[in-house]
Amino acid sequence: MDVDVAATAKEHGQLQQKLWELSQTEQSTVLPDAASLAKARASLPQSLGSKGIGYADARRHILEDLVPAFNKSSISPLYYGFVTGGITPAALFADGIVTAYDQNVQVHLTEHTIATDVEYTTLGLLVDLLQFGREWHNGTFTTGATASNILGLACGREYVLRTALERKDVFSVTSAGESGIFETMLAAGLSGLQILSTMPHSSLVKSAGILGYGRANVKDVSLHGDPLKFDLDLVESELRTSNKATIVAVSCGEVNTGYFATSGFENMQALRKLCDQYGAWLHVDGAFGIFGRLLPATAEYSTVRKGCEGIELADSIAGDGHKMLNVPYDCGFFFCRHKDVAFDVFQNANAAYLTGGSSQASIPSPLNIGLENSRRFRALPVYASLVAYGSSGYQAMVMEQIKLARLIAGWLFDHPKYNALPQADSKEALLDKVYTVALFSAKDEELNSQLAKKIDATLRIFVSGTSWQGKPACRLAISNWRVQADRDFEVVKEVLDSVAGAA
Ligand SMILES: *Cc1c(COP(=O)(O)O)cnc(C)c1O
Repeated sequence: MDVDVAATAKEHGQLQQKLWELSQTEQSTVLPDAASLAKARASLPQSLGSKGIGYADARRHILEDLVPAFNKSSISPLYYGFVTGGITPAALFADGIVTAYDQNVQVHLTEHTIATDVEYTTLGLLVDLLQFGREWHNGTFTTGATASNILGLACGREYVLRTALERKDVFSVTSAGESGIFETMLAAGLSGLQILSTMPHSSLVKSAGILGYGRANVKDVSLHGDPLKFDLDLVESELRTSNKATIVAVSCGEVNTGYFATSGFENMQALRKLCDQYGAWLHVDGAFGIFGRLLPATAEYSTVRKGCEGIELADSIAGDGHKMLNVPYDCGFFFCRHKDVAFDVFQNANAAYLTGGSSQASIPSPLNIGLENSRRFRALPVYASLVAYGSSGYQAMVMEQIKLARLIAGWLFDHPKYNALPQADSKEALLDKVYTVALFSAKDEELNSQLAKKIDATLRIFVSGTSWQGKPACRLAISNWRVQADRDFEVVKEVLDSVAGAA
């Protein structure tokens, strides 16, 4: 291989600067134009040549051909699709370090690297940020909230089956991870597994498919007329009559509306009591909603705060890093209140070379409590950002994002050509519930059928198309640290007015 190491090292020195410049580029459009996309597509090689083009040309190709065809989903505060988050300067810096040093954090070996200690410390800092007690300092970093949901349902599966065996005084089989799901359920006299939830995120249903619950066994237990709130009587009767081991999953932040499935500590307490009584596991999907816990205890945030109250009563909690934490993709987090359960599921049995010494037992090796046996040092960007900005820095970010969402939702409520969704009796009632998402549709049916497309075609802002109560709707989700509510509100108004022909 023909590599000039010294020249490459020098380039690497400039790379951090270049990355920062790229991430700073003030863009007038959030999506690439058609010409940039076409140029990039035409530049992709048809096959792998035996002789490489060299580092310098590869770099030029990426910067000049490919980068102009990327969207600005993380870079621009005007990109409101999905819940992408941005990347804080501290996280960008740290992510470069992660790549350059490529630490494997998976086996905790105290004399080899500080990486695993940093990951564990970061989990603790996150526990503090989210205002849980340190009894929650147990879990791991994942690829995102989907993986965190998989971990939650995998730990839940282990626990509910173990509980069922104990309650039937069966001791011949003790662990699904060890003996198999089928054998364990047979021994416990169970007919299956199920998940009770209200408007779960698609990734939770996906997890049910992966883990042998079955997507068809994710059951809606919502109140008649309010599809996000739990019908506690229905939850109770399902738990009492079903012969299936059960997970109760809470949508702490529903993805279309940003609304919350529970409405305060007592609501969570009622679910906790039912789960204890019937040996069920309580899982919270808090991917982006969980950051409502950072808000100050004032009247304007009271409803949102109540939506994330009492989460600490759960058995497991899934959260996302790449969204509201504003670190790069490939980062989510998982917390579990039961220290031993993840090990029963994810341990590498019979691999002596992967075990740390007993003196290191206080920090579990991540490879025995999560999916991967090798992975990148995901925690460092989170660590850098938390240390740099502190809880008040993150609180300010969330408040600014909510401010923008509420400015937009209130404006839409009064707009002659738009509906603010979900329909509310008054503007006050609407804004009281708005978190970081504004959901809306156009009053004109024809415009509404292509609304997201028309908005996104301006290239100035990007919203996701979705469906609400059987009709097309647009979802504007705010999650970037760069948001400046008053400034960005002006752009959103201009775009939406022009699309509706109201300007
Ligand atoms: C985004 C999201 C997920 C999935 O997270 P990924 O990071 O995309 O894996 C799960 N649940 C909720 C509520 C979400 O908003």
